[in-house]
Formats: sequence, C-alpha cells, structure tokens
Amino acid sequence: MPEFPEVEALRRALDDPVRAYPIEKAGPAHVATLKTYEPPLKALAGRRFEGAERRGKNLLFPTEDGELVLHVHLMSAGRLRYLRTGEKQPKTPAFKLSFLDGAAIVLTEGGPKKRAKVGVYTPEAIDEELARLGPEAYRLGAERLGEILASDSRRLHAFLRDQRALAGIGRAWANEILLTAKLSPYGLTTELEAEEVERLAAAIDSELARGLELRERAASDKTAYRIHNRLAEPCPVCGTPIARVDFDEHTIFYCSTCQTEGRILKDRRLSRLLR
Ligand SMILES: [Zn+2]
Repeated sequence: MPEFPEVEALRRALDDPVRAYPIEKAGPAHVATLKTYEPPLKALAGRRFEGAERRGKNLLFPTEDGELVLHVHLMSAGRLRYLRTGEKQPKTPAFKLSFLDGAAIVLTEGGPKKRAKVGVYTPEAIDEELARLGPEAYRLGAERLGEILASDSRRLHAFLRDQRALAGIGRAWANEILLTAKLSPYGLTTELEAEEVERLAAAIDSELARGLELRERAASDKTAYRIHNRLAEPCPVCGTPIARVDFDEHTIFYCSTCQTEGRILKDRRLSRLLR
C-alpha cells in the first residue's frame, strides 16, 4: 500500500528516466484503470515529460509543453516500474507508456480487482481533481497540524489516514507514527494537549523520513514497518506483544504499554455497527 515514503521514493527514481526521451506511445490501458478519455491517451505521443511530481499519494507527470499531465494513483496494490530498453515486460499490464528509446513505464496490479488509476488531464483539470486533498503531511509542523486537529473531532488513526485532512499517510504509516508519538489510535483529535500535538508532528516527520530513506534503498515491508502487520511480536520500544484492533474497515496495530496505558482497544467495525 504505497504511502508518502513509497510514492516519494518512486517519484525520485522516475524523475530523470521519464524525461530522457520523448513519449512514443501511451497505452494500452485496462478499461477499469483508465479514468479519462478526453484528452485521449494518444495525445501524449510525441511529447516529452518534464519530470515526475507527487501530491499526497498521487504521481503526476506533466509534459514539457505545459499542456498535459499524466496522473497515476497506485491505490493498494498497483506497482509502477520503469523498464529499460530490452528489459522483460509483463504480458498484460494495467497500463503501459513507451518512450522513443524503447524503455517504458509499466503499471501492474496484483489480484483480479483493478483499483489503480491512470488519467490524462489538462493542468487546470488535475488541479481541480486534487483540490480536496489536505496539505502535505510531511514537514507540516506542529502549529498547522494543531489547527487542523482542532477543526475536526475524530479518532487519530482515522484522521491521519484521511487524505482531505492530511495528504500522504495511509494505514501502515499511521500505525508507525502513532507508536512513535506514543498516542492511542482511538485518541480524539480535539483532546490532544499542546505537547501531544508537538509529539505527533515530530513523529509524522521522523517516521515518514525514516520510511523514505528505507524505501529509497528498496527495503522490504518487513524492514520498513516496526509495528504494522506485526501482531504478537515484541514492541520495538518496550517489548510488550503488539496488539491489533479492527476499526471501520481497517486493522490497526498498536502497543498497549506505549500507547494506551495498558488498555486493550475494542473492535469498532463499520459493518458490525450497520447490522
Ligand atoms: Zn511498546
């Protein structure tokens, strides 16, 4: 599930290669993956990308002439790779874009569900599309974070994951950040003390920086995550077995010693509440 560390590492890796040669052909794209039809994919042919940009978990590839932007969102299982000339290519990619030298960027998606998104936009249209995103989580600072927290009463894990509140964090890094900040995933945004807001802002920056540094070295999930997906393993801070709880449609991992003063959190699944 790519979040800021994964998407930013990918952006940095793609920034030079995507502008090395003009685009030969954009497509094919799976019908469920391509989210736009005007401008058409073929409008990219013959143009050159200016580089790779990122907004939250979105990858953006603006063309050098300033007319078009290719948008890619990997959702939970998408994988975007740059394949050099002659490198083996997957048979049925969800999306492929070839460059004049024979290199390509290729999107694949594990599993039968196609959730990743690709689209071609004008700069104005993509700005509008992404206008609802909150500010970038990384290096937001305690003051601004405090204002956003105060404006919206909800549980911290849900808040951190909400792209309209903060852009770039998902469920995995929310778990990592809350452990480092020593805050309960069920804590309420509006009930944090000033010192806790400081801790949360610092944890957002330190965890996202740690993740980015590891992902740039192609570290695996097992190396990158200290608490996420590590049920019953010892907490890396205090050794207490890591606990999990289901909240909405998400599974949260936490340490009851570091984060909840020994309390075990109760499941709060959306589906159960609706029944
Ligand atoms: Zn702990």
